[in-house]
Amino acid sequence: MYSTPKILLSGSKNRGVPLYIQEDLRVFPKSNSSSSIIDCLEKEIYKLKIEIVLGSPIIAIKEKNELLELTIKSEQKKELYSHVIIASGGSPKIEGLHWLARLNHEITPPVPSLFTFNMPHEQITKLMGISLKNVIVKVEGTKLKSSGPLLITHWGMSGPAILKLSSLGARSLNELEYNFKIQLNWVNQTNNSIVEKALKECALKNPNKKVSSTKFNYIPERLWIYLINKSEISNSKKWNELGKKSINKLINQLTNDIYSIKGKTTFKEEFVTCGGVSLESIDLKTMQSKSIKNLYFAGEVLDIDAITGGYNFQAAWTTGFIAGKLN
Ligand SMILES: Cc1cc2nc3c(=O)[nH]c(=O)nc-3n(C[C@H](O)[C@H](O)[C@H](O)COP(=O)(O)OP(=O)(O)OC[C@H]3O[C@@H](n4cnc5c(N)ncnc54)[C@H](O)[C@@H]3O)c2cc1C
Repeated sequence: MYSTPKILLSGSKNRGVPLYIQEDLRVFPKSNSSSSIIDCLEKEIYKLKIEIVLGSPIIAIKEKNELLELTIKSEQKKELYSHVIIASGGSPKIEGLHWLARLNHEITPPVPSLFTFNMPHEQITKLMGISLKNVIVKVEGTKLKSSGPLLITHWGMSGPAILKLSSLGARSLNELEYNFKIQLNWVNQTNNSIVEKALKECALKNPNKKVSSTKFNYIPERLWIYLINKSEISNSKKWNELGKKSINKLINQLTNDIYSIKGKTTFKEEFVTCGGVSLESIDLKTMQSKSIKNLYFAGEVLDIDAITGGYNFQAAWTTGFIAGKLN
């Protein structure tokens, strides 16, 4: 009676999501195309003779005589199955998870993850396009911290260091209503005496050269000028004219430069939802629901989210693999 497993999808077709590349951890098909992943999954689906039913969102599930009864919205019909795996993806709104909450699953309210920071009142946005290979970003007054490449944009800041921070702090930044301050360490060096030594060496090497026209560390020229000006060092100042106070200000600017964030922007439409069906409601050895027998969960519908680099796909596929065993 239930011989053909089905995949029911509410969308008209599967979306082709691009994989995000990280230099050190590549999760990427040889073809460099996300459609190869879809092809691979579709090939397996056809090989296993699984029926795909499109445009059929499930709006309710009920236990009925040891079976699971699915209510399909578009066709206003009910179907019975012995086992069901829910892999309905992330829901940006909690209302989209009510049908699962009604089955006694605890729901962690969804909030967005993987976004960039808006800085509407910061002059640094005039330096849009400048990127740095390795900075440290912290959220002031919290333990949230990340490091890596950073990109200055016309609306604020982006790049892996920011996206990672937005993922780590998805919930707490939401609680702050995306209104907070960040501390930037432009030189990726938390030991101020090392930065001081480097500045003093630069001063010794270039005593009669203007600070503004000296290359320091890996800081791009326009950013360097911006930072020295922010430290109240004029463009005409020479290294041998810098007093201890100016050096200290510059060290602070390089290692603890503070910016106000007001709002967020989604990165190239890329987003992941943090929140969903709580892992407390699931037996993680089998991915079976603790409240409904033979009902399983996989993927982003669960309260699992990760940084970019293919980890969200990995989480979806791993949980899908475990759920698919129907243990
Ligand atoms: C633009 C974009 C880029 C991304 N890039 C990356 C990346 O590079 N690397 C990475 O790791 N992650 C990335 N992600 C996240 C990744 O796509 C998701 O984490 C992953 O697809 C989750 O897989 P899933 O099967 O759980 O859900 P989904 O892929 O969202 O699939 C859920 C499916 O269920 C259907 N559905 C929903 N509700 C119902 C219902 N009630 N009844 C029947 N069907 C239903 C939906 O229509 C959909 O087809 C990206 C996401 C986006 C939006």
